[in-house]
Amino acid sequence: MRAWMWYLVGGLPVALAAPLLPVFERQLVYALGGAVAIAVIVRRLRAGRVARRRAWWIMVAAMGCAVTANLCWAADLGLGGTGGDLPLVDGIYFAMYPLIGAAMLGQPAVHRYGSALAGFTEAGVALCTAVVVTWVALYDPFVRDRPEHSVSLSVALFPALDLLILATAVRMVVAAGALRATHLLLLGGAACLLTSDILYFVSVAGGGGWAGSGITSAGWAATYLFLGASVLHPTAAMPPAPARPSSATWGTVVVAVVVLVGPAATAWSLLRELREPSLDVPDVVVPLVPTAVTALLLVIRLGHAGRVERRRALDLQDALRQQSQMQALLRHHALHDALTGLPNRRLLDDRLTELLAAGGRGGLILFDLDGFKDVNDRFGHPTGDALLVEVARRLEALLTPGDTLARLGGDEFALLCPGVGEADLLERGERLLAALRRPVDVNGSELFVSGTAGARGFSAGYSATIVLADADVALYAAKAAGKDRVVAFDEQLRDRQLQRSQTAQRLRAALAADELAVHYQPIVALGGDRTVGFEALVRWCPPAAAPIGPDRFIPAAEASGLIVALGDWVLNRACRDAAPWHAATGAGVSVNVSPRQLAEPDFVARVHAALSASGLPGHALTLEITEGVLVGAGPQAEQTIAHLTALRAIGVKVAIDDFGTGYSSLAYLRDLPIDILKIDRSFLPHSRDDVAGQTALVRAIVDLARSLGLVTVAEGVETEEHYDLLCGLGCDRVQGYLLGHPVPADAVLEPVG
Ligand code: C2E
Ligand code: MG
Ligand code: MG
Repeated sequence: MRAWMWYLVGGLPVALAAPLLPVFERQLVYALGGAVAIAVIVRRLRAGRVARRRAWWIMVAAMGCAVTANLCWAADLGLGGTGGDLPLVDGIYFAMYPLIGAAMLGQPAVHRYGSALAGFTEAGVALCTAVVVTWVALYDPFVRDRPEHSVSLSVALFPALDLLILATAVRMVVAAGALRATHLLLLGGAACLLTSDILYFVSVAGGGGWAGSGITSAGWAATYLFLGASVLHPTAAMPPAPARPSSATWGTVVVAVVVLVGPAATAWSLLRELREPSLDVPDVVVPLVPTAVTALLLVIRLGHAGRVERRRALDLQDALRQQSQMQALLRHHALHDALTGLPNRRLLDDRLTELLAAGGRGGLILFDLDGFKDVNDRFGHPTGDALLVEVARRLEALLTPGDTLARLGGDEFALLCPGVGEADLLERGERLLAALRRPVDVNGSELFVSGTAGARGFSAGYSATIVLADADVALYAAKAAGKDRVVAFDEQLRDRQLQRSQTAQRLRAALAADELAVHYQPIVALGGDRTVGFEALVRWCPPAAAPIGPDRFIPAAEASGLIVALGDWVLNRACRDAAPWHAATGAGVSVNVSPRQLAEPDFVARVHAALSASGLPGHALTLEITEGVLVGAGPQAEQTIAHLTALRAIGVKVAIDDFGTGYSSLAYLRDLPIDILKIDRSFLPHSRDDVAGQTALVRAIVDLARSLGLVTVAEGVETEEHYDLLCGLGCDRVQGYLLGHPVPADAVLEPVG
């Protein structure tokens, strides 16, 4: 059983026994009831287990008045007094009524539209009705019509004070968002008090004693019980009920009954008055005035209801407007890029699909920024973001009506140009790139970027997916062709792309099926014709088919990322193959390394592992890298340099492969961790006509390398003329078909040995 039930059940026998006690002890029982109620309420307040704390503190004050008055009366009786004749104490007791009323006012959650005044009109109506009823049923018959029983003022005040509590009880019923058990118990207490007071009044007015009858005593005692139980009920701890307009039909019924009772009582009183020989003015006026006030209150209530409805309608309108604004915002958010405010991929997709569905033609340009990653790495993301915003603004200025400029993510953009033909499309692309080439001023620094673009024209019958994929293929081709350019899509590009992805797939299987081999091509020192090393060159030998050269599958492996695994495999195989020949002749091995491998954080560890697994010393290994890997700033290049520096520390050598075909900036060589320069074979003269010109170039490279302390290796030496020329220029080493073709590992030791 819950605490509030214990409280009720335990207190009930005491309340019922109260009438049996002598007057003095009865006062003590009342005082005890009030004191226990105070203790219970204060405990709950202290424990923080009640909501509406102020209302409950007021209730404590009300009980305090009751206890004080009861104790005073008991003391008076104890001292031989007659009790009930202490005006000051009566005053204290009467103070309990407005306090209980105030506590009840503070109880219910008032719904939002009703404002703080909600329920007051109902309370007013109840008060008027009660005044009429009190007059007609109590004062008129018991006080005015029986002057022989003089009712003391204090007794006469009881029903009037009860009116206060009745009114607040009505307001509570009408205004509460939801009446809870705690409220019902409070109302129970109020009902006990009301009933007892009225019965008391009737009994005293009828000549009864000061202490009241049995029922009234039990009722008063029960009042304290209910008030105490109401704070003990768990619902007293609940926060105010959610605000909602009271729509309870029984609330309406209560009001209707209350409204009707007043006029009915008035009518009854008037009819009775009409039968009297002389008209008693108060008997007519007292019931009529509250009835008129009731009518007035109802008018106010109606006006208030109208205002409430209007306010609700406005609120609803407001909520709807807010919702539609929110929806528009969400839609914008879903279809636009947050950083630049440009349409995003989805919106571009939608517009392209719409255009194609309507049978329109036009063109799509996909492009991204060259070197954007570098800007991000060097200046930080905020600068990168600012650059993107600035670029977006600049490109927007180039738009013509109907165009859609979208940011697809990162530094990727797209321009959709409805109705534009192939030739115009390329021109639009060129204009975009030209706009990008102008330096961008971001946070005080001047940044240089360029763009690379792929263009795809389309007409009715294309699908959006194909157009996007084709533009992407063209973009890929533009990047492969050296960036800062626009390339138009053609079917060949798509075939090549398709081949690449097919190749990557087959290569993956080949690596697993052990279909790859490494061949070795000798590198010979000029002057003594001593073989100083071999370059490891990967071969793909599918069963029952001609071997496939690396030029046909390395790009696919790079694009798919498979190069990392493949390169690792070649490195391990080459170290293992080279270990015996290095032990026998001192010749080393050169292994080609892809930029993707150097980007792996554990590259150094992998090289270490390959060396220690094979037993090959570090100084017998040369890593060949291309120029591009070392150019540029940013964490990528820095990591590569750190890797190479760490490896050089254990004797591994680094060679720049195909020197002269890439960035060709000789100045940067000085600061890089390299040992060897491999001059690309395109520098060797291929016909007798250009010997002089080519010679000058090779000489310049060889001289430069020597001044930097680098070893030079000439690639693609096919003829005696090449050989003699290089000898004359002072080149250190040569490699080429003249000296030997790439051969399998087991064929290496033969010529050496
Ligand atoms: P590379 O590193 O410059 O290798 C030299 C290429 O020139 C080899 O082609 C070689 O067979 C060829 N060659 C050698 N002497 C002559 C000559 O006198 N005349 C002509 N015309 N060519 C000659 P290969 O084996 O087809 O390799 C092509 C490229 O593939 C290599 O160029 C290298 O960049 C790449 N590659 C080969 N193996 C690997 C590897 O294991 N990993 C990586 N990442 N790349 C590799
Ligand atoms: Mg090489
Ligand atoms: Mg090379």
